Amino acid sequence: MNFDILTLFPGMFSGPFDESIIRRGKDKQLIDIALHNIRDYAKDKHQVTDDAPYGGGAGMLMKVEPLAACMEAVKALRPTSTVLMTSPQGRPFTHKVAKELSGCEGLIIICGRYEGVDERIRELFVDDDISLGDYVLSGGEIAAMAIVDAVTRLIPGVLGCDESATTDSFCNGLLEYPQYTRPAEFMGLTVPDTLLSGNHEMIRKWRRRESLRKTSRLRPDLLLQADLTSEDRKLLSELERDNGSTVR
Ligand code: SAH
Repeated sequence: MNFDILTLFPGMFSGPFDESIIRRGKDKQLIDIALHNIRDYAKDKHQVTDDAPYGGGAGMLMKVEPLAACMEAVKALRPTSTVLMTSPQGRPFTHKVAKELSGCEGLIIICGRYEGVDERIRELFVDDDISLGDYVLSGGEIAAMAIVDAVTRLIPGVLGCDESATTDSFCNGLLEYPQYTRPAEFMGLTVPDTLLSGNHEMIRKWRRRESLRKTSRLRPDLLLQADLTSEDRKLLSELERDNGSTVR
């Protein structure tokens, strides 16, 4: 998949995009990331990319012409890519959205700065507005990194089979169960016996129960929407009995 990122700060991406899983995705040629410096498309002598908003008010806005010129150049290269605007006003970025975006042919991601972007950019080019959460970042770069990272790990072949994304939190609507590695005892805390038993069916059941327990404790909202099996419901009532309270 091709990712094209439109930014005023391409230097921010070196590091996050040169290590670990993203790097592996690039090395295996499963993804390609191109950074486009919006400033290169500002035609005036000082290469100005921001201006004061009409109607007054604090701060500056990203000007329409350089961003539109950059966008047109990128769109000409990738006519079938989906255009995302990073914005606190967008739809919240979740596993479901990442999964959906991983099916796109390519993604063009616009990183806003200052007070944001001239609204006409959205009207002219944007297919989807994506928010990282209900808070305001200083720019869209960190949001773009999160989108590229979360989407890349869902592209088949990027993760090895021993780090498959299928048991990760949210993949099946629940949070992942607790995990342990050696040593079996640390500061008086031991690893649950079941995990040491070698009994795969007992381990599967333990993990499912603990996944349900964690989700009900930390994210009860997810449990309300999850697709639960009859085994899950039985495990949940056992948990309720143990707690003496209602889990769902
Ligand atoms: N004035 C704008 C916020 C601008 S913040 C408003 O109130 O809506 C500057 C840029 O940072 C935005 O254009 C966007 O690209 C990025 N940004 C800020 N918060 C974000 C968030 N929660 N998710 C994704 N991008 C965000």
